[in-house]
Amino acid sequence: MYTIIRRKRDGEELTREEIDRVIGSYVAGAIPDYQISALLMAIFFRGLSPRETADLTQAMVASGDIVDLSGLPGVTVDKHSTGGVGDKTTLVLAPMLAAAGLTVAKMSGRGLGHTGGTLDKLEAIPGFRTDLSPEQMVAQAGRIGIAVVAQSGRLVPADGLLYALRDVTATVDSLPLIASSIMSKKLAAGAQAMVLDVKTGSGAFMRELDDAFALARSMVAIGTAAGRKVSAIVTGMAEPLGYAVGNALEVLEAIETLKGAGPADLRNLCLELGSRLLPLARGGGDGGEMARQELEQLLASGAALERFRQFVAAQGGNDAVADHPKEFLPLAALHADLTAPASGYVSTVDALAIGEAARDLGAGRQRKGDAIDPGAGVLLHVKVGSHIEAGRPLATLYAATAERLAAGRTRVARAVTVVPEAIPAPQLIFGEVDQYGNTTPSE
Ligand code: URA
Repeated sequence: MYTIIRRKRDGEELTREEIDRVIGSYVAGAIPDYQISALLMAIFFRGLSPRETADLTQAMVASGDIVDLSGLPGVTVDKHSTGGVGDKTTLVLAPMLAAAGLTVAKMSGRGLGHTGGTLDKLEAIPGFRTDLSPEQMVAQAGRIGIAVVAQSGRLVPADGLLYALRDVTATVDSLPLIASSIMSKKLAAGAQAMVLDVKTGSGAFMRELDDAFALARSMVAIGTAAGRKVSAIVTGMAEPLGYAVGNALEVLEAIETLKGAGPADLRNLCLELGSRLLPLARGGGDGGEMARQELEQLLASGAALERFRQFVAAQGGNDAVADHPKEFLPLAALHADLTAPASGYVSTVDALAIGEAARDLGAGRQRKGDAIDPGAGVLLHVKVGSHIEAGRPLATLYAATAERLAAGRTRVARAVTVVPEAIPAPQLIFGEVDQYGNTTPSE
């Protein structure tokens, strides 16, 4: 271990055998945390080559189980978002993809800090269960084309161990460590084709655009080297996606979107992701415009909503939410409006601050394992660029107690600014990295 740490400290490239040995021995408990911490810090400063990053990812995948999706009909697909505020795309996109004939057998995570998690959102639906075994997930996906479950504890144990160390050694923000962490879980989860949504902006992991593109290229390269079809888009997370932030509120917004309405940015992002994944999965290369029309049709016809209904019922949830979401989704007992202090145009709705407000209202967690309130959150009434009259509501806040409501209110008040001059709507799609690694920034 001493030699491996020294070599990386001095900027040398590690061999595949060295990387395999480090990960294998660490997971087996044969290397102390202080030596792995030193190696992580050396990687933080020296980086990893694309070959080393791909090897690290494969070594992490090999540390645990790999989900076998090979018996499933259709092409198995996945999507991943690097995390954001109000990002409920999986709830909309997964049923759309299943309705298009693809098979979505997906493992998701919980929210932490200012970001939400798909499992928490789904569990806001009364009765919905996410604790299916990988075998149950595969059986359900075979039956109805869609299953979204909690990541199995047997998947990529190396990532859990490494992430815990990174968290306490200031080595989370390392591009190759983030890329290998995310992609090891995606590869172990077994899908043949996937689309990645890499966020940039205040609410994102990668605040700078160049870093977001670099992360997207690195993850596409890892996936392609592993024989999967992967492409990525880089999207804005300066303001929350849609209007709803908080679990039951987000399910409500996702259902509206599945009914063909919903916020324009959320609908557009789902169509952008889907119209890249469909041709990728079918092996058609281009065809994004035709795929978009097909997906729009699946929303308009109700086919995507019907698939959502089957999905909710299959996982024990009350499928009446699809038709009467306001009746069946739990909203917090207390709510209060925050009004505009002056007339003008909304210039910021800071995603990070809104995410923190939702967490303080009870929708999120300070620490792993904290309980959450499915009915808490923020329902915004404006987007950046909206015109608002003084005294009109900017947002409605939901919480279980007056204390929580007050804490959230202070943060939301700071997150939204109104100015006299008109402001253009912010850019949503910043560009893409295709399956060959070509980067195309948006116009
Ligand atoms: N998400 C992950 O899964 N891993 C990281 O390292 C960062 C974000």
